[in-house]
Amino acid sequence: MDIHKIREDFPILAREVYGKPLVYLDNGATTQKPRIVIDSIVDEYYSVNANVHRGVHYLSQKATELHEGSRETMRRFINAKSTNEIIFTRGTTESLNLVVSSFGEAFMNEGDEVIISVMEHHSNIVPWQLLEARKGIKIKVVPMNDKGELLLEEYEKLFTERTKIVSIMQVSNVLGTVNPIKEMIATAHKHGVPFMVDAAQSIPHMKVDVQDLDADFLVFSGHKVYAPTGVGVLYGKEEWLDKLPPYQGGGEMIKHVSFEKTTFNELPFKFEAGTPDYIGTTGFATALDYVMGLGIENIAAHEHMLTEYATKRLKEIPGIRIFGEAAHKSSVVSFLLGDIHHFDLGTLLDRLGIATRTGHHCAQPLMQRLGIEGTIRASFAVYNTKEEVDALVDGIIRVSKMF
Ligand code: PLP
Repeated sequence: MDIHKIREDFPILAREVYGKPLVYLDNGATTQKPRIVIDSIVDEYYSVNANVHRGVHYLSQKATELHEGSRETMRRFINAKSTNEIIFTRGTTESLNLVVSSFGEAFMNEGDEVIISVMEHHSNIVPWQLLEARKGIKIKVVPMNDKGELLLEEYEKLFTERTKIVSIMQVSNVLGTVNPIKEMIATAHKHGVPFMVDAAQSIPHMKVDVQDLDADFLVFSGHKVYAPTGVGVLYGKEEWLDKLPPYQGGGEMIKHVSFEKTTFNELPFKFEAGTPDYIGTTGFATALDYVMGLGIENIAAHEHMLTEYATKRLKEIPGIRIFGEAAHKSSVVSFLLGDIHHFDLGTLLDRLGIATRTGHHCAQPLMQRLGIEGTIRASFAVYNTKEEVDALVDGIIRVSKMF
């Protein structure tokens, strides 16, 4: 891959920040968007815009074709069996809330248990806690070792006859750990328990095949994979989605409404109340086509090289502590330098044009496990370069001399 050519696809990368070239290393939070994605949004507003599904007129039918075509692109991207298994949402967080709410409503009662892990994002903790408060369910947590790897023996010990579901991330947004999710799903299935995968941080960086994983539910956001904000996917096996009650009520998700009795629409519409972000879904599909055009394996190889290089170079800096040294890691490096507060280091790097993320990364229980308040995180995308890693390292050295 010619990274410098790829960079030209992303107009924002050419800008400066405080008079310095932008070094954007906050891709775990959100990625930048290629021109074709931005253009797809503008073009649809200019020439196609109309509400989808119920219109007999030309534009509505064109918009519907684009929207449903995007669903097919999502299906292909994760190798789902059918577009009935692709539910459009606002993002990972909404997808998780949908499953927790509907699954919890139908299949969980007081004393029933969900298994999550110590490294989960708040989006995969707090919805379960809300269910805990509402229905008295119990949350069990898979621990990890000091390298940031989940302890699979402890995981298996957590299953009881009250375990109703497992919900765990494929890649940690803080540690970069790639969890052995396929193996963990097989363990859950051995106990007759379904498994939800938070794929927010894996979808942009590796091939994710829901049939190969045998995932029951899998959730992700568009904006972390070069797509616009505000659109995401809930994948669910059709047999599960059929059994779950609707999440929100409104237009689109009904078959017939009367004051006496309302019947619900078929999949996938049963879970898509209200006007969908049909322009966003076009942008989303355009982004996934872009990724498929580059080849996710090529993206993964480039990002792996950057992660290894960054880890090696950061380790040369005296006083650096890296969090997350799992054998299998994705494109995230979290670190602290001496006793410099992560916020101070991040702020001073920003003045050099280097965008990193500082703080707890929406994973406060993980921070507690690590005995820290937060880290600085550099996270890579396809358009990052070794020179940018060098700029980060030089920046850290420069800042450290100020303390
Ligand atoms: N899960 C993980 C692992 C994440 O990294 C994130 C975002 O950082 C989320 C869930 C939430 O994603 P969103 O804010 O797009 O809903």
